[in-house]
Amino acid sequence: MQCSGCSGIQKVTDTITNPTAREIYKREFRDNEQVYNNWQAAYQTALTDSTTVSLPYVEKGKFSTDINEVYTYDITLEEGEVLIAEVIKDSSTQRVFIEVLGSDTTKPEKAEINRTQIKYIPDATGTYKVIIQPEIAADTPFTISIYKRPQYSFPVAGKGNADVGSFWGMERDGGKRRHEGIDIFAKKGTPVVAATDGFITYTGERGLGGKQVWLRDGMFGKSLYYAHLDSIAVQGSATVKTGDTLGFVGNTGNARFTPPHLHFGIYTGRGAVNPLPFVFKTNKPEASGFTFNYTALQLKTKATANLRQGPSTSFNTIGQLTANDTIQLLGQHHDWLHIITRNGKKAFLHKSLAREIK
Ligand SMILES: [Zn+2]
Repeated sequence: MQCSGCSGIQKVTDTITNPTAREIYKREFRDNEQVYNNWQAAYQTALTDSTTVSLPYVEKGKFSTDINEVYTYDITLEEGEVLIAEVIKDSSTQRVFIEVLGSDTTKPEKAEINRTQIKYIPDATGTYKVIIQPEIAADTPFTISIYKRPQYSFPVAGKGNADVGSFWGMERDGGKRRHEGIDIFAKKGTPVVAATDGFITYTGERGLGGKQVWLRDGMFGKSLYYAHLDSIAVQGSATVKTGDTLGFVGNTGNARFTPPHLHFGIYTGRGAVNPLPFVFKTNKPEASGFTFNYTALQLKTKATANLRQGPSTSFNTIGQLTANDTIQLLGQHHDWLHIITRNGKKAFLHKSLAREIK
């Protein structure tokens, strides 16, 4: 018998127990738990996968009803970057789970179901794992894109990555101190702009930095330091929006005898951090560079084939297959195939080493 009030009861319970997206999904399989358990077991196994990609990364392929496929990618993120993982499918009704894991693999940092995109801001530099698992019996072509964006926008108007002339950690004063920021070179008078929304905590002229502006990105947030300005265009305590002019590039303070530049620094509760990942401009990966036109997802090796940890010869060889071995195709990244061996090992293989089974 249907219980008309049950869905209401379930919602009330959910607000108390806060179930994961997977636990909610499991309810759809009350009458067929084995199907769900197999799918969840594939996920648990995949937590130990170690295929690695460098970003930006794009992969095309087809989710198949024949296997419980799970896509995992080890990636490196730096504090200041925003990770974006996106799955575009031909079928908009078929769902996909996208998760990001930190060092604690029992707890997804962020999990999404039934969205096409996940955004994740790491709080420390390190290795993370992106996991993408289509729902049970999904059957649709897909494009996976994994890439990074900077958390802030670039702090000098009209300038970009190539104008950064001096980096974090370089020696200063003959090695007595380290450079606690980056220098962005531009003509005197070029506007420096708010890299994020926030409020001004200090403007004035003092010390090595000369004319300077301090911008805070939230009440307990990070402080952004703009130094060596020729002149200042904001008042202390002003609220600013991203892109607002804060002042103009100059060479005041200890930059008197160097070409005009903005010294840009970021300070957290733990001290200065490298500001470059916060503002380094990036591109979304280009998906038009190759086509996925495999019809069958079972392939055979043409010859002895090296398996790689990632999609290029610069990644470690993690195994080898002999000729005529059967492999399962997960997807394709340019000339590299993302595959599973008969033993369940995931790896990348150059496409010239595999053929379709006729
Ligand atoms: Zn500097």
